[in-house]
Amino acid sequence: MTRLGSILAAALLAVGAASPLAGTQAHSRTRVVMLGTGTPNADPDRFGPSVAVVVDETSYLIDFGVGVVRRAAAAERSGIPALAAPNLTRAFATHLHSDHTLGLADLILTPWILERPVPLTLYGPRGLRAMTRHLVAAYADDIRIRTRGGEPRHGYDPRLVQVHEITPGIVYRDDRVTVTAFAVPHGAWEQAFGYRFQTPDRTIVISGDTGADSRIEDQCRACDVLVHEVYSEAGFAKRPPEWRAYHSRYHTSTRQLGAIASRARPGLLVLYHQLIWSSTEDELLKEVRSAYDGKVVSAHDLDVF
Ligand SMILES: [Zn+2]
Ligand SMILES: [Zn+2]
Repeated sequence: MTRLGSILAAALLAVGAASPLAGTQAHSRTRVVMLGTGTPNADPDRFGPSVAVVVDETSYLIDFGVGVVRRAAAAERSGIPALAAPNLTRAFATHLHSDHTLGLADLILTPWILERPVPLTLYGPRGLRAMTRHLVAAYADDIRIRTRGGEPRHGYDPRLVQVHEITPGIVYRDDRVTVTAFAVPHGAWEQAFGYRFQTPDRTIVISGDTGADSRIEDQCRACDVLVHEVYSEAGFAKRPPEWRAYHSRYHTSTRQLGAIASRARPGLLVLYHQLIWSSTEDELLKEVRSAYDGKVVSAHDLDVF
């Protein structure tokens, strides 16, 4: 595909995905942009997990998997300037699994080179500060050469990332959003969070990676959009026993999610971080619908809701 072709495809993908909500979205100040819907599986069509909540001209990222800055650039090209690299100033980590954080060096450094006016600000679990410190140390030579090796002068030192290691509760507030972090169970992780974004016109809840948990329902309660991870029961049934034990401890099955959504009653349920394995996306949706009669879509990268 040509470069223009791929841009058009990305734009069409975003427009096509908007159709279930086209009416409301056209008047909405808030959009949910699926930058990456993937998992550790190296699916070339699904980049690492990352969701952007965009309110007017401001973006808030949740997680930063592989390819986050380029997916954000694709969203910018399809008409969302809040996702231009210089505007990627704030991000919230759900947990520190590599699939959700492999784009952190990208997020620290690429927008810095592209003249982001301020250092990155991060919110997330314990360990995020150490991860950030190690990454900027790993790129010490790059930062030194870009700072003193002849590149035009940068406005600040990219190592000045502001990291907030959080506990559940309201973790961020400005005149567009109130962000609440809540604890979710994710296997052996001591801290994993979901996030609730209250904006002037919508409430968005993002599960992060989680086992089935009633706290999602408590946070959503007829929220506008619930973005939730999920795995296929049909695919799961064919996995080796040791992986089945792992997945059932760390993630949420289609039927479990259907039951959660039936109680949470979101305006729209968006599936992401889909573990489908040998099954299909159609089957995945059928399984959710067998336990849930509300509106549900299985997200792809660059979908906008
Ligand atoms: Zn994950
Ligand atoms: Zn995880």
